[in-house]
Amino acid sequence: MELVFATHNKNKLEEIKFLLPHYIKLLSLDDIGCDEEIPETADTIEGNAILKAEHVKHRYGYNCFADDTGLEVEALNGEPGVLSARYAGNDKNDLANVRKLLSLLENKNNRKAQFKTAIALNLNDNQNLFTGICKGEITKESHGDKGFGYDPVFRPNNFKITFAEMSLTEKSEISHRGKAFRELITYLSK
Ligand code: IMP
Repeated sequence: MELVFATHNKNKLEEIKFLLPHYIKLLSLDDIGCDEEIPETADTIEGNAILKAEHVKHRYGYNCFADDTGLEVEALNGEPGVLSARYAGNDKNDLANVRKLLSLLENKNNRKAQFKTAIALNLNDNQNLFTGICKGEITKESHGDKGFGYDPVFRPNNFKITFAEMSLTEKSEISHRGKAFRELITYLSK
């Protein structure tokens, strides 16, 4: 069975390919001749994952899954959420995003936050949604140099270190993305 993962990112593709049952042939957007930026115009993380999976299914005719992730901060009414990649501007600069977040939370006692990953799967005539959530808090300063995005300022609950201080294996065991993808893989392996 052929299945598209709506991404141009080769690393993400290889990681998932490795975990899927062998009868699934995983294709990237490049493999199906899709070089456009699929619009992510929904106002929720789930909505953006659904938009991308539907776009591929309807425009290209492939079974497909698509993911979207965002950081939701309680004291900022759920922001940056769908704006996570572009919080400080359209150039998607991780450092600038982190700086903006820390400055908006300056003097705030409530630093609770969660990462959420949504994966929409369009398989034959069915649509499924898988979500993974990782709860934690935003630190006052950056710690660690691993990972990407908001990792240096996100400390998951029950840990004394941030995501940026963990190995990828350690992070994947508890992360939003790890949880959502494990749900997808369990579903596809049935
Ligand atoms: P995407 O939907 O996976 O492209 O994620 C959107 C944005 O959310 C990224 O550009 C990052 O700023 C942020 N983000 C997503 N996942 C993570 C993560 O695991 N750690 C830190 N930041 C993340």
